[in-house]
Amino acid sequence: MPVGTCALCLETRELRDSHFLPAGFYRIMREGSGEDPVLVNKSAAFMSSAQARAHLLCGECEHRFNDGGEDWVLKNCWRSRTKFPLHSALIGVTPFVDEQGFRSYEGKKIPGVEIDKLAYFGASIFWRAAVRRWMVGKEKDARLPLGPYQEALRLYLLGKTGIPDGVVQIVTLSAVLDDLHNRVSAMPWLFERKPEYRSYKFMVTGFTFHMFFGMMIPKPIGRICSARHGFLAIVLRRSESRSSLMFTCARHAPSSRLAIRAPRRPAWRTYFRTGPKGPPRN
Ligand SMILES: [Zn+2]
Repeated sequence: MPVGTCALCLETRELRDSHFLPAGFYRIMREGSGEDPVLVNKSAAFMSSAQARAHLLCGECEHRFNDGGEDWVLKNCWRSRTKFPLHSALIGVTPFVDEQGFRSYEGKKIPGVEIDKLAYFGASIFWRAAVRRWMVGKEKDARLPLGPYQEALRLYLLGKTGIPDGVVQIVTLSAVLDDLHNRVSAMPWLFERKPEYRSYKFMVTGFTFHMFFGMMIPKPIGRICSARHGFLAIVLRRSESRSSLMFTCARHAPSSRLAIRAPRRPAWRTYFRTGPKGPPRN
C-alpha cells in the first residue's frame, strides 16, 4: 500500500485504494440485470463496469465513511423493482406535503430512518468530487470548485463540526421503481449558478442528492434541509415549478411555524409577460 497524506484526516498513512462511489453501489446496479450500470458524466451516458478509484484515504477514514453513511445507504437504497427499503418506509407514513407530484416527509420521525447517515453519505460524495479529479469512463471529470466549503465539509466529515454554515442538502427519492430510472449513477454536476449560491447534484440507486453552497441561500431552501431538519421528499415527476413546490414544502414544514415569504413576483413584470389580460389564474 502506498504511503501518503490522507485527504480527510491529513495524517501521513498507508492509503487504501478508495472508490469514488462505494463498490457496493456498482454491485446493486449490476444485480438482477447482469448488465453494467449506466454511468453519466458531464458529456455522456454509457454502460460501464469501470469504477473511479484512487489512493485517497487511510484505513481509519475509509471505515469512518463506511460507518458514517455508506453501509446504511447501501442497505436502504433502491435494489430492484420490488425492493427499495427507504421508499417503503416513507410510503407507510403520511407526508406533510402532498401535492403536484411532490411529497415531503419528516424523515427524522420515521423509525429506522437514519437521516444523518444519508446526509453524511451525500456530503462525502460531494467532498470526494471536490478533492480530486476522477476518471469516469475514458475521461477525467473536473473537480467541483467548492472554494472554502471544501475544507468546511472535510471538518464536518471528520466529525469536528456540525453541518457547515452556508451548506444545505436536500435528498429526494425516486418515485418509480423501474430499472431505467434507478440503475443509474450520475457524477456530481453543477445544477444552478445563482448570485446567491451554487448548487450541485448527483444521483445513485434511487436517490438524488442536491447540495447548495453559499451564504445567501434563500431561507425556504434552508428550512427543508435534509441534513439539519430531516426532511425527505419523493418527487413523482419532473416539474418545472419544482422551486415553488419547495417553497410550499418549506411553508408547511412542521419545524417552521414562522410564516415564510415566497419570493414575490413584481406585478409589472407579470403584466408585461402576459399582456393586458393580466396574469393567468391558477
Ligand atoms: Zn485518514
